[in-house]
Amino acid sequence: MTEKTSSPKAETREFQAEVAKLLDLVVHSLYSNREIFLRELISNASDACDKLRYAALTDSKLLDDKSGDFAIHIAVNKTGKTLTISDNGIGMNHDELIANLGTIAKSGTAEFLKAVGDSKKDVNLIGQFGVGFYSAFMVADRVEVVSRKAGDPKGWTWSSDGKGAFTVAEAPDAARGAHITLHMKKDAEEFLEPQRLHQIVKTYSDHIALPVILDPIADDPNKKDGEPKAETLNSASALWMRPKNDVTPEQYKEFYHHVGHAFDEPWHTLHYRAEGAIEYTALLFIPTQKPFDLFHPERKGHVKLYVNRVFISDQLEGLMPRYLRFVRGVVDSSDLPLNISREMLQNNPTLKKIQAGIAKRLLKDLKERAEKPEDYAAFWNAFGSVFKEGLYEEFERRDDLLELARFTSTAVDGLVSLKDYVGRMKEGQDAIYYITGESAAVLKNSPQVEGFLAKGIEVLLLTDPIDEFWVPTVGAYDKKSFKSVAEAGTDLSAIKGQDKKDDAKDEAPADEIKALVEKLKASLGEAVADVKVSHRLTGSPVCLVADTGGMSLHLARMLKQHGENPAGVIRKVLEINPKHPLIKRLGGVSGAALDDAAHLLLDQARIVEGEAVPDPAAFAKRLSAFLEKGLAKD
Ligand code: ADP
Repeated sequence: MTEKTSSPKAETREFQAEVAKLLDLVVHSLYSNREIFLRELISNASDACDKLRYAALTDSKLLDDKSGDFAIHIAVNKTGKTLTISDNGIGMNHDELIANLGTIAKSGTAEFLKAVGDSKKDVNLIGQFGVGFYSAFMVADRVEVVSRKAGDPKGWTWSSDGKGAFTVAEAPDAARGAHITLHMKKDAEEFLEPQRLHQIVKTYSDHIALPVILDPIADDPNKKDGEPKAETLNSASALWMRPKNDVTPEQYKEFYHHVGHAFDEPWHTLHYRAEGAIEYTALLFIPTQKPFDLFHPERKGHVKLYVNRVFISDQLEGLMPRYLRFVRGVVDSSDLPLNISREMLQNNPTLKKIQAGIAKRLLKDLKERAEKPEDYAAFWNAFGSVFKEGLYEEFERRDDLLELARFTSTAVDGLVSLKDYVGRMKEGQDAIYYITGESAAVLKNSPQVEGFLAKGIEVLLLTDPIDEFWVPTVGAYDKKSFKSVAEAGTDLSAIKGQDKKDDAKDEAPADEIKALVEKLKASLGEAVADVKVSHRLTGSPVCLVADTGGMSLHLARMLKQHGENPAGVIRKVLEINPKHPLIKRLGGVSGAALDDAAHLLLDQARIVEGEAVPDPAAFAKRLSAFLEKGLAKD
């Protein structure tokens, strides 16, 4: 955003590049659903009134007209072909107009726009992002916002044709709040018809807790006899306070769109009133799609807290557990104090109890829905990785969370529960085996898993970064400890698997193998923590594993990606397969040839792990030498 001209009265500025791109996308891709512009503007107006009502709790002067009667007005000018949406909410000052309507402050904007690319088709993606104010440009070729911030003496007019620039000028007589005038496009004049406005407000904004009033239309040619009357278009009562039976699924959905700034269908709706020691009403939604800021490091929740219908905050820490931060909706309680700061409220013991109550109800519902695995998979695939954060940090509900967690595994396609896993454990198996890494497909083929697959022992394939943290913290499920297959010293001999043949017969003689281990150790020196004989390998000659009790190789790699250097902590063990022909042959090799073979095997194991080879030139040289020898014999 650069400033082009500047005078005391008016200035012209360019939109931030991201806004220009978003505007273009919105105008072109949502064309078939243009009527939602009204919902977006009414939604903003309602939020603005909520904000002022809260601010006025501590500073009543902000309500300069002494009226706490908040309302949203829609005014039609048939002759001028304009539609004005006005509110008497918090308003915006000069700088806020520029910042809010000229830039996008949302984190992840650049990534989002990159994801949408130049395809103007992906309505869902844009919906996920939220179009908000800019949707006005779908129906208007010029938009003017006259606004005076509550408490300020004068207001400002923001004006733009949505094509790259906007102007801001003084508006000395502006009334408190925001007054948004749309100069309708020729093909959008249907939105000047009272019936059409009626229908749109009823469809999308009926749940708005403030009255949405259609002002009398002075120049309406269809006007009937008598005085034109203002008309309230919505029910104007807080939707969450209505009895469940009085709310239709459509109304729930529209309310979710409003509170969640979302476009998708809610995957789950939970509406209840808690009575007893602490009273509150909750109307909560689990989205279908991941909100775009789900993995933002702040891990903020977005459920709105109301105290007796007065909006307090939509980012109050302590209302929702962080592992449920994808939940959207409203909680309204009369048992919380109104006149204390948000910070004090955050630590209020009643709020903690409400949080516990909400979590309990949501988990109960999830348990029910988990009975239909396909349906539940949609939830799990979208939010499982966030949900698992709870395994790490929510001690009290750990058992419930473990029941609800799902995993990819080597045993079946689709998702499995820990209960499924335990039910399939082999005789003699006392641990839940898992491996961590980036991709389930790669993990399934990794050498560490080979021996488990050969024996028909199930291995959980954990691919979320959080898995590295919760598994060691939780330790066990149903008294069976979690054990990494990528850790040294795994002994599968006690487990009765499907592999019946006597493996030992195929192995090289024990003394020969022992001697080879010593030779390899001498040759590799500091490059490995140890060399061990393995019984987990079937098709591969070698693999790398973490030393018992050490950091997993995957975690070490993750830390490295984040600039940490765990080299000092991590100890890698090279395991060799005594049945593999290559290993058997090595028994008789010594000197430089053994040295080269040892390093090649180690580098090969590193490559399979997805690690970089520390000395690629030496690797290439050794490989060429071996290839040359091998080919020469043919
Ligand atoms: P969102 O509502 O998702 O934040 P918008 O583009 O719709 O995105 O609005 C951007 C910001 O502009 C809002 O967050 C709010 O701060 C401000 N805003 C929009 N409409 C109004 C209004 N009627 N009154 C006061 N502020 C508003």
